[in-house]
Amino acid sequence: MIVLFKVASGATGLAQRCLDEATKYSLERKTFGVPIAMHQAVSFMLADMEIGVQNSRAAWMRAAWEVDQNGPRKTFLSSIAKCYAADFANKAAADAVQIFGGNGYNSEYPVEKLMRDAKVFQIYEGTSQIQRLIIARNLIQDAK
Ligand SMILES: Cc1cc2nc3c(=O)[nH]c(=O)nc-3n(C[C@H](O)[C@H](O)[C@H](O)COP(=O)(O)OP(=O)(O)OC[C@H]3O[C@@H](n4cnc5c(N)ncnc54)[C@H](O)[C@@H]3O)c2cc1C
Repeated sequence: MIVLFKVASGATGLAQRCLDEATKYSLERKTFGVPIAMHQAVSFMLADMEIGVQNSRAAWMRAAWEVDQNGPRKTFLSSIAKCYAADFANKAAADAVQIFGGNGYNSEYPVEKLMRDAKVFQIYEGTSQIQRLIIARNLIQDAK
């Protein structure tokens, strides 16, 4: 469980970096005479990143608290945190690449590496599918 919320905190850090890089770039890069951050479609991606970062952080902190208390939901909450933060890090990285446009695909800019690095969070320490299995089993057990 400890490893799971630690992995979730790492994924959250990656998502935060995606947001930081994308925000900075979107204020520098101009199209149609304005920074691309002023285009609503781009600003909504930034807003979604902030929402996901905050949710990921809240999820792993909640799981960490439960583990610290040796609470009965420590496995359930750790799986939720790991699964959510890992999946969200991949969305954040994909959106960051999108905001960088062609430059996002280029290794001179940081976000293509963030997208490669994000993937492993859905694989190691239990894939996202296995986390969902654990979450579903806990739900079913509780409902019985
Ligand atoms: C960079 C990296 C570092 C790693 N470090 C370690 C380490 O330090 N120690 C260690 O022990 N392992 C480590 N691993 C291994 C990692 O834990 C496994 O890769 C991971 O658990 C997935 O197992 P697998 O690769 O055998 O995939 P498989 O088990 O073959 O899974 C393949 C796919 O099938 C899905 N799947 C499998 N079974 C089910 C099921 N029952 N229901 C639904 N979907 C399912 C999986 O989610 C996945 O999408 C590392 C892996 C990587 C990439």
